[in-house]
Amino acid sequence: MPLAKIIVLSGLLWVFSLLGCNASHSDTHTPPVAQARTFTGKLPIKIVATTGQVAELAARIGGEHVRVEALMGPGVDPHLYRPIASDVEKLNEADAIFYNGLHLEGRMSDLFVRMARSKATFAVTEGLTTRGDARLREPPEFAGMYDPHVWHDVALWSDCVKDVTEMFVKFDPPRAESYRANAAEYIAELSGLDKYCREEIGKIPAENRVLVTAHDAFGYFGKAYGLEVFGLKGISTEDEIDLAHQEQIQKMLVDRKIPAVFVESAVAPRTVQALVQPCRAAGHELRVPEQELYADALGLAGSEDSTYAGMIRHNVRVIVEALSPEKSP
Ligand SMILES: [Zn+2]
Repeated sequence: MPLAKIIVLSGLLWVFSLLGCNASHSDTHTPPVAQARTFTGKLPIKIVATTGQVAELAARIGGEHVRVEALMGPGVDPHLYRPIASDVEKLNEADAIFYNGLHLEGRMSDLFVRMARSKATFAVTEGLTTRGDARLREPPEFAGMYDPHVWHDVALWSDCVKDVTEMFVKFDPPRAESYRANAAEYIAELSGLDKYCREEIGKIPAENRVLVTAHDAFGYFGKAYGLEVFGLKGISTEDEIDLAHQEQIQKMLVDRKIPAVFVESAVAPRTVQALVQPCRAAGHELRVPEQELYADALGLAGSEDSTYAGMIRHNVRVIVEALSPEKSP
């Protein structure tokens, strides 16, 4: 990429970061990928990733040849995450950097632009945008910007695995066969997981297939598995709640007798709990399941939910249980 373009891009990203995450999903999302770089260091390849799901993706493909560290742990909100000094140090020392892209990591965008000048820096969603994948959500209210929460559609995430595998192959050609074999194994698991989601969500009575959460993280999930999705906030947790929008959601919950709404692990519970009282006043008993959904991060290390598949299965279990009347207490 010519220097002038990098300067313009980084300037734009700086402006967008001032405007907040919601304003940053524009056409400038093409990440500055250092495709031509190849690995010349000593194994294992030191990889730094942003979110847990991106770290797992890199670790599963890289297998024994990589050592992966995630900057954002369980419960960390990637929209608001600001890198600290030690993160920058880790990124500087890494052989390769992997991040979600589509401005999920809204406050790290300019840092990735800088890193890409000297280091292999990969956005795992880059292939989706380059191909103009028809499944990418670009709802009109987001003014031409993409929704970054692609991992909630398992089939879409599985395509990111394929893309990242090719990034690995170009970066470290001698171990291409191993990366492709690891990826095939992971993709087979994800295919089973996708089927599980479809079957389980299919058990919810059709009239109850409505998912209300704090921020608009589950659009891909809803589109893939057949749920109508409403977020109180926008695509970023940073967005303010619009009271008129909240009232519309309340009315919809009462009119359609939707049994439950959901708290997310990285957003304060009061955001959705605020819906309970007005619904009750209108004669509708709304439940908020005790178990939170994982919107933007994986579960606690050591728990079943600490893996990508565990996180997805947890969400599906909580949603199916709360929206299926025969299973509600
Ligand atoms: Zn989010």
